[in-house]
Amino acid sequence: MNTLTLKDKTLHAIAEKVVRQIPVSEQDALYMLQTDNILELGAIAHYLRTKLHENKAFYGVNMNLNYSNVCELRCPLCAFSCDEGDKQAYTLSIENIEKKVRDAVSFGIDEVHIVGGLNPKLKLDYFEDMLRIIKQIKPELFIVAFTAAEYDYFAQLNHISVEEVLKCLIDAGLGALPGGGAEIFAPETRNVIAPKKISGSRWLEVMQIAHSMGLKTNATMLYNHIETPENIVNHLSRIRALQSETGGFKTFVPLSYHDGNTQIRAKRKTTTGFDDIRLYSTARIFLHNVPHIKALWMYLGEKMAQVLLRFGVDDIGATYYNEKVVHAAGAKTPNYGSESYLKNLIETADLTPVRTVSSYENRLH
Ligand code: SF4
Repeated sequence: MNTLTLKDKTLHAIAEKVVRQIPVSEQDALYMLQTDNILELGAIAHYLRTKLHENKAFYGVNMNLNYSNVCELRCPLCAFSCDEGDKQAYTLSIENIEKKVRDAVSFGIDEVHIVGGLNPKLKLDYFEDMLRIIKQIKPELFIVAFTAAEYDYFAQLNHISVEEVLKCLIDAGLGALPGGGAEIFAPETRNVIAPKKISGSRWLEVMQIAHSMGLKTNATMLYNHIETPENIVNHLSRIRALQSETGGFKTFVPLSYHDGNTQIRAKRKTTTGFDDIRLYSTARIFLHNVPHIKALWMYLGEKMAQVLLRFGVDDIGATYYNEKVVHAAGAKTPNYGSESYLKNLIETADLTPVRTVSSYENRLH
């Protein structure tokens, strides 16, 4: 696309910037988030997505490990957490984790994705043992683990710095950070949906530390709760600014909010196709310096995730063997999508599936 003629004048001007590699403005992002002209918006996003990744679309084969649902914070947005002593409260022992990972390895996974609650009983040695045992089971397994909120909590609980926590966990086998806990940075909204969680500024600071230590991370954003379009633009803008300093974000992962069993009502029970298309396309266009945009089929439904491959998305997520967090909030998708199923979604969108892990090193099988 040396030139792209679009009927919508504002989208045409945005396309011109994109072709000339000029970052689009916050005002452009606000416009894109509210346009009904999804086809012209999608044409710009697909141009960029194709320029970056040609005909490829990525997917992973992994397991989700949610080590404990006991959490001190009990964020209003969360359906997963419990208090210690609640009927559904659980904490996996290292033996239990070993068994779950061995089972998943027999299904041929490449990666273990680990997040959990902020549980005051779990000290750093529990997490070091967890990562070490996973690496012992299969040294090539890629470990993508813990949100910035968890790292900040581990540091406080163990009276050490975030750098020291990261160093210990890198030594134990940590490969990358999944980018959760970002929610929405704008304090007026964050203070309602997750009032006790680390601030948006602290989240960015933890990421900056991880990037400075050579770790790659994702960045997430939770939408479809009480956020405004301005909150979304602010969130994208702060990620883009940090990325221009560190280059450490591999992937941006929007997460649509499900409100089952939570204290915050969603804007809509499920987002509309237009909502998702506007958001993912805008993210692709605005975050010109973040290489990948991921649409988790498990949050969006597999049909919408597939459609988004034509609206800026290049990664459809992974098999997520045994996911618990979004299903606790009412996601209706099956919690295990087979590899052949994900490949088929990509192929029937006329793209070439590439099996990978969070670092995007190719895994050839
Ligand atoms: S969202 Fe995370 S930090 Fe908040 S209550 Fe749930 S598990 Fe705890």
